[in-house]
Order: sequence, then structure tokens, then C-alpha cells
Amino acid sequence: MMEDDFGFDTLAVRSGVHRSQFNEHSEAMYLTSSFVFESAEQAAARFSGAEPGNIYARFTNPTVTAFQERLAALEGAETCVATSSGMAAILSCAMGLLSAGDHIVSSRSIFGSTVQLFGNILKRFGIETTFVSASDPSEWEKASKPNTRLFFVETPSNPLMELSDIAALAAVAKRVGAKLAVDNCFCTPAIQKPLELGADIVVHSATKYIDGQGRVLGGAVLGSAELMEGVRNFLRTAGPTMSAFNAWIFLKGLETLRIRMEAQSRSALELAKWLESQPSIERVYYPGLPSHPQYELAKIQQSMGGAIVSFEVKGGREAAWKVVDSTRMISITANLGDSKSTITHPATTTHGRISPEAREAAGIREGLLRVAVGLESAEDIIADLSRGIG
Ligand SMILES: *Cc1c(COP(=O)(O)O)cnc(C)c1O
Repeated sequence: MMEDDFGFDTLAVRSGVHRSQFNEHSEAMYLTSSFVFESAEQAAARFSGAEPGNIYARFTNPTVTAFQERLAALEGAETCVATSSGMAAILSCAMGLLSAGDHIVSSRSIFGSTVQLFGNILKRFGIETTFVSASDPSEWEKASKPNTRLFFVETPSNPLMELSDIAALAAVAKRVGAKLAVDNCFCTPAIQKPLELGADIVVHSATKYIDGQGRVLGGAVLGSAELMEGVRNFLRTAGPTMSAFNAWIFLKGLETLRIRMEAQSRSALELAKWLESQPSIERVYYPGLPSHPQYELAKIQQSMGGAIVSFEVKGGREAAWKVVDSTRMISITANLGDSKSTITHPATTTHGRISPEAREAAGIREGLLRVAVGLESAEDIIADLSRGIG
């Protein structure tokens, strides 16, 4: 019943639906760790792969399969492999595609745990990573070696909203014989579709906008069936699989993804414009603002600005903490992607372990704040922030 030319919104609510014998309307949640067979012969056929079907939930589960089909339809991917968290997705991607002796070129401005995974953990297993600028494709080319197998990027970056030109990086990756993986967590397919821009792989922390309501952890890796084969094999064997319960939450989250991203982007733009008009604000970082240095690129590869707004207040840490501590509604937490707006001071939280010199060099100054705009009324979000600004 799924048509290839259905629109995004239709795919978001209709794809991945396989009704059971009860003909339920809403997606069923299959909380079972294993599946039974009709006979010894069928068990043998399932295990040998001669007959498709479920065996054990570390391999497949119908609710997880439904989520995978739906997210694949939205990203325009041939195959999706769901994982227990966003970091499990990035680990599974690396373990599925790379071997000892391989080399990664990665953007420097990526999620902190991804830096640790690449720089410390994979390194112990003989996989080296070179970190380069997110926005300069020539650095990626220069850093590439004959054993470079993977390019890894997150766009926009956190917290400075720096964009990477996905099509340009895809061209460089192709030239040097590497696969380009994009962490599409901040945008989601409602805003940006990396595979259409030439990327080979998309990874997600579903924990953020795909859930959208801050309930459960999950992740996904998407790409061609050929590339995902190794990722799936790693997952089946090593086990960082998505639970059926979490898959069900994410399935329902996808149904409202675009309207949430649109509402949150609209409020984020309103907030960004307001901040830009405030004399006590030094600078606003938001790809939907014409003042963003990569505004033209944002218009090409993103359909909206997204829900994250970063800004620098005049007066350093003291002034920034005053804004945080003056809020009465916005949650003080480093998390993002929730329907509830959140605020964080990167220099003393998410980026607190980096040396002050390196932090300054990365542009994460003491006056910087990051707001992940939720679904509350935009005027209430602005009013809450205005308490400490001025
Ligand atoms: C949160 C996050 C991750 C990690 O996801 P978890 O679900 O917390 O493991 C990876 N990348 C980005 C951009 C994130 O924001």
C-alpha cells in the first residue's frame, strides 16, 4: 500500500505499517525477546536464512523493523539499522565499515562522546582519526591518506551552528575513496536529507528530535543495503540493539516530526531575531538568520533553520550565568531535542573539560549560551530569557 511518491508527511504516518492478525490501527508493540517456529524444519529454515522471519529480538523485532522502515522512507535510504542509542549508532557504523589500520577524517566540531570514541577508543584498536575544520573541504582533502575509509561530519555543529557543505564533502570523499557519514541529529530528515546531497551514510541520535519528548534513548544508521550489511552484522553479534518499547516511541515520534521541527524552527527564528536586536547581545549563531556567514549554504541544504539558537552575551561568564539563573520556565539542562526548551552554558558544562585556551580557539567563549527551543509559545520563551538579558 506504500507508494514511492507519497509525500514526507504521508510516509511519516503510513510507512512501516504491517498489521497483525488483529488488524490493529495503531502500530503494535511486540514485547517479546524470541519467536516460536511451527516445526523443526521451519526453525532450521529461519536459522539458515532460507526463510525470512523473526528469530530473536537481538536480530529483529517487528516493532523495531517498522521503525527502521519508516525512518528509511523519510531519509530516502535503502536500509536503516536501529540501535540502542546515538552513540551505539556511531560505534556500529565504525565497527561495520572499518578495520584496524583504517583512517577517519572527522570534523573537529562533533558531539563530545564521538570525539572520545574516535580519538581514544577506536585508536586503541588501530583506527586513527584526523580532526579538521567543519567548514573547509580543502582540509579534508589534505588530511586524507590512502587508508582513509570514512569521513564523519555533524552539520550544523554544536554549539556554534557552523555548517558543513555536504555536497562538497561528498565530492571530496568520492575522490579519495572514503564514505561520507553525516550525523543528522540536529536537523532530522524533516529539514535536511544528507543522502540526497551525496552522503553515503546518515547516523542519528533518535533520543533527540525523533522522540522529541525526552523519554527514551535510541539511534539509527542508514545507507545502502550493501553498506549496512556490515553494520547489521556487528549489531546482531555485539548486541547494542534498539528495544521494541523504544522503537514504538520513536515510530509515534516520527508521525509528528515535521510539524514539531517546523514549529520549533519558527520559534527559534523569532528568538534569534529578538536576540539580535538586544544591545547586550554580542552575537547570535543561527543558520536561519541572514547574518549567519553560511546563510546561503543553509538555504541550499536545509529547509528550515532548526531549533537550536546560540548567542553570546556581553559580560562573560557572570552575565551568561545571570541569564541562565534568571529563567523560571526554560529547563537548565545540556539535553536538546525536547518539547520543553532547554538552556546550557557550554563553557562550564558540555565543553567544560576542554582547556580554556582550546575552548577560546574553538570560539566557545564564556559569554556563550545555547538554547534548544521547544514547543512552548515563542513569546513565553523570549519573556523567560529577557529576565536576565538587559
Ligand atoms: C546526543 C547526540 C549523540 C549521542 O546520542 P545518544 O543517544 O545520547 O547516545 C550523537 N550526536 C549528536 C549530534 C547528539 O546530539
